[in-house]
Amino acid sequence: MSHPHTSHPQTSPPYDHELQVLDPATEEVVATVPAASAQDVADAVGRAAKAQVRWAALAPADRARLLRRFAAVVDGHIEELARLEVREAGHTLGNARWEAGNVRDLLDYAAGGVERLTGRQIPVAGGLDITLLEPLGVVGVIAPWNFPLPIAAWGTAPALAAGNAVILKPAETTPLTALRVAELALEAGLPEHLFQVLPGAGPVAGAALVEHPGVAKIVFTGSTAVGKQVLAKGSALLKRVTLELGGKSPNIVFADADIEAAAAAAPMSFLDNSGQDCCARTRILVQRSVHDRFLELLAPAVESVVVGDPSDERTQMGPLISRSQLERVRSYVDADAPGIRGKAPEGPGFWFPPTVLTGVDPDARVAVEEVFGPVAVVLPFDDEADAIRLANATDYGLSGSIWTRDIGRALRVSQAVRAGNLSVNSHSSVRYWTPFGGFKQSGIGRELGPDALTAFTETKNVFISTEGPAQ
Ligand code: NAD
Repeated sequence: MSHPHTSHPQTSPPYDHELQVLDPATEEVVATVPAASAQDVADAVGRAAKAQVRWAALAPADRARLLRRFAAVVDGHIEELARLEVREAGHTLGNARWEAGNVRDLLDYAAGGVERLTGRQIPVAGGLDITLLEPLGVVGVIAPWNFPLPIAAWGTAPALAAGNAVILKPAETTPLTALRVAELALEAGLPEHLFQVLPGAGPVAGAALVEHPGVAKIVFTGSTAVGKQVLAKGSALLKRVTLELGGKSPNIVFADADIEAAAAAAPMSFLDNSGQDCCARTRILVQRSVHDRFLELLAPAVESVVVGDPSDERTQMGPLISRSQLERVRSYVDADAPGIRGKAPEGPGFWFPPTVLTGVDPDARVAVEEVFGPVAVVLPFDDEADAIRLANATDYGLSGSIWTRDIGRALRVSQAVRAGNLSVNSHSSVRYWTPFGGFKQSGIGRELGPDALTAFTETKNVFISTEGPAQ
């Protein structure tokens, strides 16, 4: 895989031929990795297509057994994968361990689906009608850098379980864990070329996957701007495309909520992973009558978040992924803007302090655009209708939270907010066994959950006549 060495750090990696992986906490070079060309992608598609035919012909129990073994091998390497994720992505060790464990769980869950991927029998006259769920063929998974391990596995595990081959293109800045997982797949006995990882530049290797006619489906997770290009190019080939895109999710706090609990939970709902989370609750909407009290409670909670070395077990928030991401986040926050500020280390590394802005115009850039950093705004609202209006005043529709003790209100607001993943009196939104995906500009299609495997199949309808041959 990669060859760790210690050359001088570079902030604009030469993506055409190789990718340089930096430790975001120190700016040291962790590794350099060759970048795939369009030809490399085409070669990989050819190999994958052959491997897929053999894979789909295996008995379901054998495919399931191999995927369970893959999960077991990943389980034996959780700590190694987690440490690698800390190094290349700056994730806190606790988060990285959870993420590596999530890969194992996704594989286990998908393995359980292989023998349950059943079609239907539909009543018809004169015969029998059945549906067959057939694999698509070769699936391309294009992953972002913010959750390199889990998001790669969201697409890969169910696609393999449904009988497909997978080519995964990780993000430029975070190829190392994906490469290691591909090695573990071979160690577990998965056939060669069934699951290939091709690190490379998005506009080169990513675009080549999208444009290759031998790739039946693209599972894309990333920015809305690139997702739209992927959809446009993929649709020219009538390719199946799933898009998991950006978010600007509301955290709605009603006056009847447990305000202490809401204020205690709010910081990590937008600071987890340094805010580089598509589900980050970055618009904190607070009913006006409890606005000041909420801020009084929120300030110490934000200020006490431990920001620093991500490999330290006590750290709650690490650095941003790159210098360009740091500059992007800085561009949203004026140094003298009113609000709450936490602490962040000085010196090397891509650090930005936890930040909550108050008194913000709801139409301001920071209140409308996805910052993808540890920055939230607090906006007051008057009543339930006003809260729903503000929550929906965004082009995105990925996640959201509703804090209230009134069950009727919780249900009304859950139905009224146009987003794919909501939680009440909680900020949890992603479980591998429940569906996940966005409304509006946050995406198309759903991943995870009970239907995850079906999304990697074509439905074929077969009618079998029971009439005897014409006399
Ligand atoms: P990005 O769109 O820049 O890159 C995502 C992936 O697409 C990378 O692998 C990149 O190399 C590739 N890519 C870039 N240009 C391409 C092209 N022309 N053709 C094909 N592939 C190309 O996004 P990012 O900055 O890596 O990730 C952050 C974004 O991802 C945020 O907007 C975030 O909200 C979103 N995200 C969404 C979800 C979700 O499930 N909805 C989850 C995580 C992240």
